[in-house]
Amino acid sequence: MDQLVQELFALPIGMKYAGKVLDMEFHTSDSLKNNYIEAMITNRVTKSVGNEIKKLVDNGRIVPCYASSGMISFLLKRARTSIKNIASSFEILSFLVSTDPTSLGVYSRDDKKLFIIIDNSVNMIGTEADIQIARITVHELLHMFAHENTKKFLPLFNEELNKFYGYFLEHLFELKEIPSNEISEYYKYLFQNCEIKGILKFSELYKNLMNLKQYSNLPEEDFKYKCMMYIHCIKLMFENLNLYSEIVHGKYNIIIKSIHSGYLNCFDGTAKMVLYGQELIFPSEVICVSSEIKITSKISTAVKSIL
Ligand SMILES: [Zn+2]
Repeated sequence: MDQLVQELFALPIGMKYAGKVLDMEFHTSDSLKNNYIEAMITNRVTKSVGNEIKKLVDNGRIVPCYASSGMISFLLKRARTSIKNIASSFEILSFLVSTDPTSLGVYSRDDKKLFIIIDNSVNMIGTEADIQIARITVHELLHMFAHENTKKFLPLFNEELNKFYGYFLEHLFELKEIPSNEISEYYKYLFQNCEIKGILKFSELYKNLMNLKQYSNLPEEDFKYKCMMYIHCIKLMFENLNLYSEIVHGKYNIIIKSIHSGYLNCFDGTAKMVLYGQELIFPSEVICVSSEIKITSKISTAVKSIL
């Protein structure tokens, strides 16, 4: 990282090097770790998995990192301009941006670590900030679970994914009486190819989408148009995340609305902190977002099995 930028964010004493995120160095300390653990054990969102989170901090899988003022906004800007392709984006894509960016989570698949970056000005104990940090932590832990336990992820969350993708695809493509095995085939294809292997071939994705045509009431041209829209939406998300977040509610509104009503119908709530879109290719995002709505016993099971 640039010397100048590093100097801009001067460190307090007692910090140890923790790792790099987007070429930016991050640091941690024992007191930061202890405060983070205490916040995760005591707040209402994560107290049921607080002990597991403590173990993950102790064994270095979760690394709470220090950020000085302005550092998180700087990192987000860098993230938004550095996504170039699906394979290099695993670190970045699991960013969870809160409304007020004083904390963020980054799951780095290469390091097998979850960096929780916390603004120095935030008081972590007994405030709304700890709830935000807790939600970010669980969201990213579920990405970690999905990516490291690929064989356990689908069987564990089969029911939720079937419900969500069933509703989302029915809504978007006006499907009728689609057999549930067709729905599960679709998200299995997304999970195993796009998400886990990082292979995204648009011609294959198009073929998989066109397979749903037989269950749709839409005229062929309209169905194809929606498939192309689905693919354009993904392309834009990777090519220009800034532009994507600006126009997604205009041009791609039907897709966003279908995702939104999928959450509303299947999980009785909607996400507060993320930009919809990853669901189009990454099924784990659905489970991560659902954890913001409610931490179910299955979600606790997933977190507990990460250790
Ligand atoms: Zn996510």
